[in-house]
Amino acid sequence: NWLRKAEFLMSAPKLNLCVEDSGFEIAFAGRSNAGKSSAINCITDQNQLARASKRPGRTQMINFFSLGNPDQRLVDLPGYGYAAVPEEMKKVWQKELQNYLIERKSLTGLVLLMDVRHPLKDFDRMMLEWAKDRNLFVHILLTKADKLNRGPASTVLLEVKKELKKMKLDFSIQLFSSLSKLGLEELAMVMAGRLNY
Ligand code: GDP
Repeated sequence: NWLRKAEFLMSAPKLNLCVEDSGFEIAFAGRSNAGKSSAINCITDQNQLARASKRPGRTQMINFFSLGNPDQRLVDLPGYGYAAVPEEMKKVWQKELQNYLIERKSLTGLVLLMDVRHPLKDFDRMMLEWAKDRNLFVHILLTKADKLNRGPASTVLLEVKKELKKMKLDFSIQLFSSLSKLGLEELAMVMAGRLNY
């Protein structure tokens, strides 16, 4: 499994300090607590990998991981909406996130994680609009799907699909659970496609 080759490369506080903008990159984003670290650890089968990003000082950093070679990368974007972060910092950080999404040439896809019980919050909509502006491929994960029964989970999936259509967004979406590993293969396939694996 190629995703197991994931290795931490570096953390960058802003776009102009990132690793060289070459090759292919797929970025993971979501509101804090959406299950991003768990998902990254789950798909790479490494319990500690995304823990570096969780240290307080690094929550505002862009964290880069190589996937077998430095030109195929996974990027862990800062979780958005930490209550502990002051408003001013949030604004600065929002700008950095926007810069990254709009200007990063090697970025070939965005994986946007949303808790299946709280989908499409303001932050999520903002990310989707930025991605649309840039024509960026987005794959949405409705995370913690194990928290709902199959019926209700499928209903959320359909509702979010409908809402995306209303927003004129043609993005792919799936249910995901780091706990039960639901949707793991589907995600790996999507990522392989975006990274030319
Ligand atoms: P992050 O802030 O987006 O990186 O979120 P974390 O990965 O740290 O997860 C936030 C909380 O949700 C933690 O308490 C996790 O144990 C829990 N969690 C994450 N993924 C799942 C999942 O697939 N199922 C369930 N039931 N809980 C999850």
